[in-house]
Amino acid sequence: MTDCLFCKIVARQIPADIVLETGRALAFRDVNPQAPTHVLVVPKAHHENAAALAAADDGLADDLLTACHAVAVQEGVAEPGYRVVFNTGTGAGQTVFHVHAHVLGGRSLTWPPG
Ligand code: 5GP
Ligand code: ZN
Repeated sequence: MTDCLFCKIVARQIPADIVLETGRALAFRDVNPQAPTHVLVVPKAHHENAAALAAADDGLADDLLTACHAVAVQEGVAEPGYRVVFNTGTGAGQTVFHVHAHVLGGRSLTWPPG
């Protein structure tokens, strides 16, 4: 997708603070962090949201979750715990329509989220 912000980050056309790269996923720090650790994990392939990613049915969603956990371990937040969030749709606050997992940790996380 030529006009997608996260496709441009994947293509290194826009800079980002990349923390992990796998064969099919890229993880970089959120520019507006909501927690001491706030990393976005995206598939390199463009899918609009989590539903489209799941429908692709090629194991990519599995790879993405595996990458999320790897980020949490690398960031030192796997213990005591971290949160993985997929905002899906404008009503849930999705603003970038290239699916991304928010990996949040490093502080106590309240439930339910706002
Ligand atoms: P959403 O609201 O779609 O769930 O999440 C989009 C996230 O992307 C937001 O948390 C926002 O701070 C982050 N973001 C927006 N533009 C950029 C950017 O250019 N670089 C990085 N690293 N993060 C961005
Ligand atoms: Zn994209």
